[in-house]
Amino acid sequence: MTLEISNSLQTCYIGIGSNLANPVAQVNAAIEKLQQLKNSRWRYVSALYRSAPVGPAGQDDYINAVACFETRLAPEQLLDALQQIENSQQRVRRERWGARTLDLDILLIGEQLIDTSRLTIPHPYITQRNFVLVPLAEIAPELTIKGVPIGNLIKLCPVGALEKISI
Ligand code: ATP
Ligand code: MG
Ligand code: MG
Repeated sequence: MTLEISNSLQTCYIGIGSNLANPVAQVNAAIEKLQQLKNSRWRYVSALYRSAPVGPAGQDDYINAVACFETRLAPEQLLDALQQIENSQQRVRRERWGARTLDLDILLIGEQLIDTSRLTIPHPYITQRNFVLVPLAEIAPELTIKGVPIGNLIKLCPVGALEKISI
């Protein structure tokens, strides 16, 4: 039953992104909220990265990071919790891939494969985005995704402008 809290802790990875209204502060505020998430045990977060925007032209650069925690929340409960955090930071949904104060995407939940109307896990674009794979590899260098080592996925990933920013 996907809607029940399970007893087992699942390790999950969350992609964080912002390119509006002081993105560094937005990402840091989101990290603080993720650290307090119910039924979950915080692990760690990558450095912050600056990346060139994908999607509609004319947007500012993004600030990205990847967080890791263990959770007993079922996948859709986790999505609900993340969307509450997005809403608490005034996320407005307009055009697809448009500028946003905060985007929290579930990258991985353990080794689960999910494909429902609300959720695709692993995240559908995980292998196409170096602003996701590079911070993910920083905190989980031994990770494999569907059996492929993350280092191999980074070599195959399209190269987008990406810079680690010191914090
Ligand atoms: P992208 O998926 O390309 O990163 P986005 O993050 O801008 O796009 P959103 O507007 O944040 O897209 O989310 C649209 C919908 O995607 C959500 O309402 C959610 O139901 C769905 N979704 C599917 N899989 C996931 C996932 N792994 N993590 C977060 N949302 C997901
Ligand atoms: Mg996204
Ligand atoms: Mg999203």
